[in-house]
Amino acid sequence: MTSEAWLEAHAYLRPLADLSVRVDRVLAGIDVLDVRIPDWEDYRADFLAGVPLLSSANAALELEPGGRMAGALVEGLASEASSGKLAEEIRALATSLRGEPQVSRRIADFLLGDDTLTPPLPGLLRYLAWTAMARFLRPVVTSFAGWRDEERWLRRYCPTCGSLPAMAQLAGVEPGRVRLLSCGCCGTRWQFKRTGCPFCESDSQRLASVAIEGEPGLRIDHCESCGGYLKTYNGQGNEAFLLSDWSSLHLDLIAHDRGLKRLAVSLYEFEPGA
Ligand SMILES: [Zn+2]
Ligand SMILES: [Zn+2]
Repeated sequence: MTSEAWLEAHAYLRPLADLSVRVDRVLAGIDVLDVRIPDWEDYRADFLAGVPLLSSANAALELEPGGRMAGALVEGLASEASSGKLAEEIRALATSLRGEPQVSRRIADFLLGDDTLTPPLPGLLRYLAWTAMARFLRPVVTSFAGWRDEERWLRRYCPTCGSLPAMAQLAGVEPGRVRLLSCGCCGTRWQFKRTGCPFCESDSQRLASVAIEGEPGLRIDHCESCGGYLKTYNGQGNEAFLLSDWSSLHLDLIAHDRGLKRLAVSLYEFEPGA
């Protein structure tokens, strides 16, 4: 399915899709700053102990340039002539960031949970800044995927940034079929056990599945114990689109209507469009 056909069927996703296109366009015009690939052996002990890469003092990744790219992205979007609520929100965000000392470093810290930066629209900053940071980190995420032994992680949180998963993907064919969890922040995908809840770690807990009418490739897997859910892509080939969090926002709405809780970081806690 093409993204255009998808949007025909889910018209209310259009404002987010438009924002995503604008973000990609502005980001394409920003210099991608160099990231230093860590010496993986320096990080090995932390990896085995379950410390995510970005939290490891031994990996010593410098994230400030990613924060700088995030600031440039916000400025680039704010300088585009456009009207509407979202455009105003982006300009308000840009104005508030301009007044902050050491803002690039603090944006990077903000993404890892530091709360000394209190922007007017934290959800919007989180979305924009993670998009820029994920672009900055891409060579590291690729190198990390090549180095790490998936069998030695199998944890419920992202091995790169430590976030809980936004989505899952069932990939491969039996008997080698695996479940990958997908980070909505840094874009890492990592292996997890086939059954079981990544939110409450109740080992015995199998997830129940809700099929989505008209969407054979997507379903909602949810936990009876903690009420958490995972949007799951049961297929391969359309990862770039279907594993982007916004393209399955309607699944979040269905889950919400069923009383389930979004336990992944929400990148869309702001009101799109209007
Ligand atoms: Zn991540
Ligand atoms: Zn659970």
